[in-house]
Amino acid sequence: MNSKDSNSSNHRKVIIIGSGPAGLTAAVYTARANLSPLLIHGPLPGGQLTTTTDVENFPGFPEGIMGPDLMQVMEKQAVRFGTEVLVDTVTSADLNAIPKVIKTSKATYTTDAVIIATGATPKLLGLAEEWELMGYGVSTCATCDGAFFRDKVIAVAGGGDSACEEANFLTRFGSKVYMIHRRDQLRASKIMQDRVISNPKIEILWNKVITSIQGTKKDGVSSLALEDTKDGTPSKLECSALFVAIGHTPNSQLFAGQLDLDPNGYIVPKPNSTKTNIEGVFACGDVQDHVFRQAVTAAGTGCMAAIEAERWLESRNQ
Ligand code: NAP
Repeated sequence: MNSKDSNSSNHRKVIIIGSGPAGLTAAVYTARANLSPLLIHGPLPGGQLTTTTDVENFPGFPEGIMGPDLMQVMEKQAVRFGTEVLVDTVTSADLNAIPKVIKTSKATYTTDAVIIATGATPKLLGLAEEWELMGYGVSTCATCDGAFFRDKVIAVAGGGDSACEEANFLTRFGSKVYMIHRRDQLRASKIMQDRVISNPKIEILWNKVITSIQGTKKDGVSSLALEDTKDGTPSKLECSALFVAIGHTPNSQLFAGQLDLDPNGYIVPKPNSTKTNIEGVFACGDVQDHVFRQAVTAAGTGCMAAIEAERWLESRNQ
């Protein structure tokens, strides 16, 4: 299928979109397979891990590692084997074209295979302090950061399955867990609701929204200002951490109308595979995973995508 475009300097065998653990692992594998991948960073270079501080659950780092440092060494490893890294953002992707066309804000590329590793963005409450204290008492991942708050009072924002799951999980560490929900009814499934309600360490603060977060980068979170959604009464909750668990948005908008997405926007790969409904397009990491959402699982699917892309290219003699 070598079209005229395939010979141009802007043609690649593989383009990887996204630079979190999934994209960078796919880069290490495709680079080591001599496919000279082009990896396009995206708007949050390094992905969600760059918004955390210590990562203690990535195998191989017994003392833990800072999230941004982990991403930096992964990128270094990918570059060592020949990955070309582009600090740019993809603006459009024509995945059905032959070759496929990827446009960024600066250039247009063609490629035989595409590995999509664009991740998911945690929804945030929209408070000014949320970003400032992210990784310093504010978190969007209980599995990642819960263990830092042993015997502390922890707050969880949200009323869906994620919030219930996080609240339950956090009772392993916290002395008390408050769930702050804006309504008088949980959105979560019945089984998750039952688990929360029967957990003696969890107290639900109904009809409350968080209006501000008090704390500093040095000392972490100290309290939350709340407001009653029914009568506007203000209150204060002293706590050491806030886990925002109000859902994620998979970064799949660029591919809508081309790739099969589930009702929440996650890419749906073929079972036990990273293959999508379009030949030569593979999806890995959080953009196709609403269940595990871990750096190590993202890296695992990045490896799968690279191997599947390599085999697909080989089957087409490319
Ligand atoms: P979700 O179901 O959309 O729930 C989001 C929750 O956050 C809702 O309670 C919502 O309140 C609240 N919320 C949203 N924006 C808010 C804001 N700006 N301020 C305050 N509260 C806000 O999201 P999710 O819990 O992440 O679940 C997403 C999907 O994954 C669901 O289909 C869920 O079943 C699934 N999931 C399943 C499991 C499991 O089965 N183990 C675990 C996690 C997720 P309202 O209720 O008032 O809208």
